[in-house]
Amino acid sequence: VGDSKDYDSEVESICPFCGVGCQVSLKVKDGRVKYVEGINGPANEGRLCVKGRFGFDYIHHDHRLTKPLIRREDAPAKGLNVDPGDWSTHFREASWEEALDFAANGLKGRGREVAGFGSAKCTNEEAYLFQKMIRQGFGHNNVDHCTRLCHASSVAALMENVGSGAVTATFNEIENADVAIAIGCNPIENHPVAATYFKQFTKRGGKLIVMDPRGQALKRFASHMLQFRPGADVSMLNAIMHVIVEEGLYDQQYIDAYTENWDAEKAHLEGFAPEKMAEICGIEAEVLRDVARTFAGAKSAMIFWGMGVSQHIHGTDNSRCLISLALMTGQVGRPGAGLHPLRGQNNVQGASDAGLIPMFLPDYQTVTDDGVRSAFTDVWGSGDFSNEKGLTVTEIMDDVHAGNIKAMYILGENPAMSDPDVEHARDALAKLDHLVVQDIFITETANYADVILPASAFAEKTGTVTNTNRQVQMGRPAVPPPGEAKEDWWIEVELAKRLGLGWEYQSPADVFAEMKLNMKSLDNITWARLEGQNAVTYPSLSPEDPGQAIVFGDGFPRPEGRARFTPASVIAPDDVPDAEYPMILTTGRQLEHWHTGSMTRRATVLDAVEPEANCSLHPSTLRKLGAVPGDMVRLTTKRGSIEIMAREDRAVSPDMVFLPFAYVEAAANILTNPAVDPYGKIPEFKFSAVRVEAVAGA
Ligand code: SF4
Repeated sequence: VGDSKDYDSEVESICPFCGVGCQVSLKVKDGRVKYVEGINGPANEGRLCVKGRFGFDYIHHDHRLTKPLIRREDAPAKGLNVDPGDWSTHFREASWEEALDFAANGLKGRGREVAGFGSAKCTNEEAYLFQKMIRQGFGHNNVDHCTRLCHASSVAALMENVGSGAVTATFNEIENADVAIAIGCNPIENHPVAATYFKQFTKRGGKLIVMDPRGQALKRFASHMLQFRPGADVSMLNAIMHVIVEEGLYDQQYIDAYTENWDAEKAHLEGFAPEKMAEICGIEAEVLRDVARTFAGAKSAMIFWGMGVSQHIHGTDNSRCLISLALMTGQVGRPGAGLHPLRGQNNVQGASDAGLIPMFLPDYQTVTDDGVRSAFTDVWGSGDFSNEKGLTVTEIMDDVHAGNIKAMYILGENPAMSDPDVEHARDALAKLDHLVVQDIFITETANYADVILPASAFAEKTGTVTNTNRQVQMGRPAVPPPGEAKEDWWIEVELAKRLGLGWEYQSPADVFAEMKLNMKSLDNITWARLEGQNAVTYPSLSPEDPGQAIVFGDGFPRPEGRARFTPASVIAPDDVPDAEYPMILTTGRQLEHWHTGSMTRRATVLDAVEPEANCSLHPSTLRKLGAVPGDMVRLTTKRGSIEIMAREDRAVSPDMVFLPFAYVEAAANILTNPAVDPYGKIPEFKFSAVRVEAVAGA
């Protein structure tokens, strides 16, 4: 941290990493961001984690793209073979005019042959423009983004049973709770500033029930730590609810007033006595009973969950259980009560709200509804588009292999690293006859591009983002983009003009004004308000209302205002261990690294702290392998194999490997299973059968 006077200017913006959405002050000296401080945003109250405080200097990295690039005619065959610091053998520099014409000409008039991936790293306005371009320009809904890989199943369950895909209460509401469950999330590493509120909650006597197949740092603060067997979520949660029913601990008054389908849920739970489920989930029956009594006995209780819940083929069922647990105990819609899926990327909530998903237009209005589509085409001044739900991220890659999709526009996403069974995705990208990539670096995906459009990092752009708390916040530019790089909204508008869409936006504020026409969630939230106040939570009930931290106190946005119980049955993971692949692989993030590593591995401090690809194994597993920490091991699944340095970690059970996914040199997704949840279409990143071997001579 620098001397507080040692800067030329300071600009308030939003941290670009996780969904907590910490507000930051960027201190600029000589045209560069010199250091960052936390400011008093509603989610962070001045706090920052290591990524927010020290992870910003990737924006000044030598690898930044400064000019549009077009693939050379004599470039080597498409593959993962471009040096991001020296791309001259594969690409040549082009003017914006030439690059935009080239990008548009390869897409124009191709309708169903084109698909698009937008980004949860971009602003709400940029996400809105992206989905509009695919729908208006190509007439279909084959547009998606990384929500498909993180919380799509949570959103599916919330939409189905609560009527809204967002959180019912901010995470800060934990200060009003007396009990909280944190399941399938690791907030100390993945939502570190939110975790500080969790720790404070326990310091003042709150009971924290942590449930996760992997031990974790939050365990130290927990009243109960349930390290259950991977994939046994539904058995465990149904057993807890069984006790609540059996012992009459549910809130009948709340159930009668605000819910439906209770009798079916109650009958379904009969078969899940803890004594029957204990062995399946690896948790003693008495512990399950104690957790049930603790949760049901709370005055106010919250449930937090992460991708340990969502990234399963039964991810929607996992979330259905959590929703049922909150409903049967009346723990929604009051201070200190609620459901909170901790969103991953800084703007995955906002990008989803803005319609960057194949089944919904902005504000989760379904594409199958004629009235909804015509409300949008009226505003857009264009003809109708398909009433069929579009393809998801993984389905789009399958459709490329099937020869139906031949061109793609990918903005800020990196499927060559983030898709499950990633060689399948890389092969698909290589097959495309026209790939437009818009990004700030030559990512692994940009290796396959025909044209690369150099874009802006968070500190170089204007626009709003929406965090896990439903807080719409204003991002501001502190420095200009490097070289000829441009803000993403500008690039989208120029491309749309060349596609004949006649867009005339002059600024992100123009786009935001258009979004408000068909997004009731933005009622009472104006650009001017956001410029003045930095953040407003939706829904905001009046121009003066800072927004509702808690929703659904008086009913739900569903028929008759009632939430629904949807009973969840047990579905086994898709790829179960056997003699050949006897262990379980689970993937996730580390504190220092962010997703596919394109930003944090170029951030000096973060890369210095965590420079090398690694996996975590229990000490007894290492002993069995004849290996010691630091040795190389080989991980093999039915999809592929990688070699990687092993770490010793007692938090990982002896039958499990934990593998971070930020490292291209040992890409986790070479190994992961593409099987998806049938509702959210999210891949089962959290469970694959794997074989672990010591590497001879390592
Ligand atoms: Fe950024 Fe998330 Fe850390 Fe806050 S908690 S500083 S938003 S990475």
